[in-house]
Amino acid sequence: MMRIIFATGNEGKMDEIRAIMKDFLIKHDIELLSLKDAGIDVDIVEDGSTFEENAIIKAEAIAKLTGDIVLADDSGLEVDYLDKAPGIYSARFLGEDTPYSIKNQHIIDQLDGVEEEKRSARFVCVIACAMPDGEVVAERGTIEGRIAHKIAGVHGFGYDPIFYVPEYECTTAELTPDKKNEVSHRGRALVKMMDRLDREGRLC
Ligand code: IMP
Repeated sequence: MMRIIFATGNEGKMDEIRAIMKDFLIKHDIELLSLKDAGIDVDIVEDGSTFEENAIIKAEAIAKLTGDIVLADDSGLEVDYLDKAPGIYSARFLGEDTPYSIKNQHIIDQLDGVEEEKRSARFVCVIACAMPDGEVVAERGTIEGRIAHKIAGVHGFGYDPIFYVPEYECTTAELTPDKKNEVSHRGRALVKMMDRLDREGRLC
């Protein structure tokens, strides 16, 4: 069985990643481990200035440490009216330990009275894959939406309750987990990465 580490400590993300990659993991007989599963407890300084740079920093750091194939993601919410904030600072926005009920209400309040066309936003996810030979590849996925007027939905995590997707007339926290995985930034980036790893024969 091949071992791949996914360099995240975020359990909400890890649940989604396992669901999205399920068939791929079975097909290639891969055991996918989170940092916690692999017994790795390191503090990686994410000092890149783009989602790509940060995803690559994380994947390379863990690959150097373990010698395994390592996947990592960097993701976040871009709100156009706030000059694309919180962006790469999404996890740290208003403080890492601040509850999302507060972070989400803060964003809604900042957009108080802002008309519909100016509430555009997107989730961005970049997946990087670091190979034991030192090569790194990255793929990006996005989902377009807008900032809701109120918090809604119980699924997902983070900013899902304020991310309204006009196509589905609800927030990503109101989508079923399967539907979110099918249409999300993370789902799209991971599908691109799995296709690429297959196409380039990197897991043979
Ligand atoms: P990262 O762990 O540095 O990639 O931080 C990503 C942060 O972006 C998360 O902690 C959330 O705040 C936000 N985020 C990323 N993806 C999602 C999502 O699918 N739903 C809600 N929030 C997300």
